[in-house]
Amino acid sequence: MSTRDTKGPEREGTSSSGTRPATGAAACRTAAPAGLAGKLLSLQRTHGNRYARQVAGKLEAVEEKTRGDGKLDSKIDTREAEVAGGVVGGVIGSAIGATLGGPLGAVVGAGAGIALGALVGHLLARKTLTLNITKVEGSTRSTTVDDASKILEDAANVKISVGKVKTLTKTESEAAIGTDLVLDEYAAPGSPTAEEVALTAINRTPNTLTAYFVKAMSAGSHGESFWPSGFPTVPASVAIKNGDSPFVAGKPLAHELCHVLLDDGGHSSDTKNLMSYSHDGVGLTAGEVKKVRSSTFVK
Ligand SMILES: [Zn+2]
Repeated sequence: MSTRDTKGPEREGTSSSGTRPATGAAACRTAAPAGLAGKLLSLQRTHGNRYARQVAGKLEAVEEKTRGDGKLDSKIDTREAEVAGGVVGGVIGSAIGATLGGPLGAVVGAGAGIALGALVGHLLARKTLTLNITKVEGSTRSTTVDDASKILEDAANVKISVGKVKTLTKTESEAAIGTDLVLDEYAAPGSPTAEEVALTAINRTPNTLTAYFVKAMSAGSHGESFWPSGFPTVPASVAIKNGDSPFVAGKPLAHELCHVLLDDGGHSSDTKNLMSYSHDGVGLTAGEVKKVRSSTFVK
């Protein structure tokens, strides 16, 4: 029984970005109201100074998140959509509120509109990773993958949608990975074992990732990945053994999937990062979020 970390080509030493950029929010504090927030100042003409300023202030605060800390929390694509939704929602909400409740209604409506608009923006920005799942004899892992999906949703607003699920019979499983049902692991990127080649040929859809759930792995890894540039001879895949402990639920699968989505076997030194070896790091940098969301496997 091993508590060895999830596997990637740690021997390669290519590193994903490790540290977070420093905060840049202060630079935005003095910026004049821009965009829609600025236009909203025109509400002064119709609704009086005090309330119009409050509405514009709310919108400005939302817009500021993009220009400032939006770069810090690794959700910039998603955040931009939320802000856009929030601003549009705020404008609509303030207009409705003004009609129903006059100046005070405009303020209340703007607040409600921003919240609702941000939610709509978040949902519109959501992307989907379709994942085929092949369950090998001896695996007890659930094929619902909700935990891993939650990690990717929180980090990059990418939801996992389970595609073709195939459960191999004992005979089929043994034909691919031998009668011990332990997957023989590669020693170095680019050199998959015969068992890995046989296994990763099963349950494929063009341009779709397939995850292989196995009972155990020969080197004690929790999981391994076959990212395109590192493994040009096998289709993009991940293999995961039973159980997530000692990692937080879903981390091994989410971590291995991101090796493929990032097309990078490297690891982060930031223990809060999903691509680190830490047991509980589930975040991604802004650069990683962008790359994950632009992966050809993510629609
Ligand atoms: Zn790894």
